[in-house]
Amino acid sequence: MRSLTTNQLLPGSVDALKLCQQGVTVVGFLPLANLQRLASQLYLAEGNVQVRLSFGLDEQSRKTVNGQLEATLPLVCQRCLERLDSAIDTEFALALVWNDDQAAQLPRTLDPVLMESEELDLLGIVEDELLLALPLVAVHEQGSCEPPALLGESIPSDEHQAGEKVNPFQVLAALKLEGNKH
Ligand SMILES: [Zn+2]
Repeated sequence: MRSLTTNQLLPGSVDALKLCQQGVTVVGFLPLANLQRLASQLYLAEGNVQVRLSFGLDEQSRKTVNGQLEATLPLVCQRCLERLDSAIDTEFALALVWNDDQAAQLPRTLDPVLMESEELDLLGIVEDELLLALPLVAVHEQGSCEPPALLGESIPSDEHQAGEKVNPFQVLAALKLEGNKH
């Protein structure tokens, strides 16, 4: 599969009708930080998603968008709560529809995108497809990490067990002594 890496920042929305009629393929990237629903699920919103969207008309003159996304998403491991990089490479096929009837008539191979105008919310569909491509449970390999210690749980420490406990009465006595000097 061809790598999608390019330096072109994609716009948040495009004139989808025109692109479909012209049969344009758009290749570029979107910063993960711009995808706010996704970003809230990430360890940090760092890096980009590489995007390829091929606009066209199928044999029934439906406006279609065939897409491919590549990204390395910094997810949160559900065991240790640390960063877990997950490589995503997903493809999808969409059809632009303007009402529910059109959506109902689509073959199973095409997912409907309900349009409100001629503008396609490019950011929105990329984010939706990335969310669909996320692993159900993000977790490091078995045995490679452990759950974090719970807050408030006493952690046995060698230092404290080595008899360096401070007697509170000694502290008090020292303070009094200090006070008497002045
Ligand atoms: Zn982990």
